[in-house]
Amino acid sequence: MLDLRTQYRSIAQEVETAIAGILESGRYIGGENVTALEKELAEYCGARVGIGVNSGTDALKLSLFALGIGPGDEVITSPFTFVAPVEVLCILGAKPVFADIDPQTFCLDPKRVAEKITPRTKAILPVHLYGHPADMTAIMALAEKHGLVVVEDACQAIGAKHQGRAAGTFGAAGCISFYPTKNLGAAGDGGMVITNDEALAARIGLLRNHGNADAYHYTSLGYNSRLDEIQAAILRIKLRRLAEWNEARRRNAARYSSLLASAPIITPVEKPGNYHIYHQYTVRTPHRDKLRAWLGAAGIGSMVYYPEPLHTQEPYRFLGYHEGDFPCAEQACREVVSLPIYPELTEGEIQEVCARISSFSPD
Ligand SMILES: *Cc1c(COP(=O)(O)O)cnc(C)c1O
Repeated sequence: MLDLRTQYRSIAQEVETAIAGILESGRYIGGENVTALEKELAEYCGARVGIGVNSGTDALKLSLFALGIGPGDEVITSPFTFVAPVEVLCILGAKPVFADIDPQTFCLDPKRVAEKITPRTKAILPVHLYGHPADMTAIMALAEKHGLVVVEDACQAIGAKHQGRAAGTFGAAGCISFYPTKNLGAAGDGGMVITNDEALAARIGLLRNHGNADAYHYTSLGYNSRLDEIQAAILRIKLRRLAEWNEARRRNAARYSSLLASAPIITPVEKPGNYHIYHQYTVRTPHRDKLRAWLGAAGIGSMVYYPEPLHTQEPYRFLGYHEGDFPCAEQACREVVSLPIYPELTEGEIQEVCARISSFSPD
């Protein structure tokens, strides 16, 4: 499904030299690589500031906390996502309010979001799922009209664009993950908040280090959520290749979609005005489980992101939702399957996957 070693081998020497230099330097947390990565990644996305943190989950937690989102606040988000944004809202005492997705992009449907706005709504938290941006034009218009904060979960969408502008730069804060399988992956955990708001950046900068303003004088509560030098150095090397790797994913996606044009599945779309970075290439079919078995029997890996929506899962039952509340998200959970899409995938491998899918029959 994913081959991280081929990519590593292509940059091994540069990475090993950088790591050896850091080990020798004795400076392991914070430092010149973290500062440089923050600047380079902010520039890459067209944001003013980057704040390196421990994970994409912490990027969300620190952003929401720094924006004052907590008990009593409703935050509208998607039930069809990796759990982190919803989990973090609950931990902060805020209330996730789910709105259904657009079945084409798998991202929040702005029309459904509009229906969920109440006097207690404080924020909208769109997730740019699989690397396709949510409809930020419509979401920002709603936010402006109702005076809401927007925090973007861009953990799967680094380098994706909507109307020429990077995912993560529309709202107050954009949250990025460097989990190893992401398009820009570390050799461990890492994350970043990008923002154009310098005051917010300063608050998050304090929060990631216990609210420590200077030498054990604290100006706020905080966490331990720092990015380390070795991860930052590796990420800087990879960031220089990210545009090329995202382009390779797009070429692979175009090959798949052309070879699968008459196959018995629905291929993913890139809506006009968007630049999809194909963190996942996700097709759908009502016979998903049979298709996966068919692929598996030929030694072809596939994954289901995500098999169950969040609103029906045990930790989130207290929110009071039921099966049937979000039909598009629920249907996606039954039908989606992601195919291998990493940049180093070969033409031969793509052809093999497509031939296998084309010969699939559910009966
Ligand atoms: C990966 C991911 C996260 C969390 O990132 P971590 O770095 O693993 O904490 C959050 N949201 C989405 C949509 C993700 O895919």
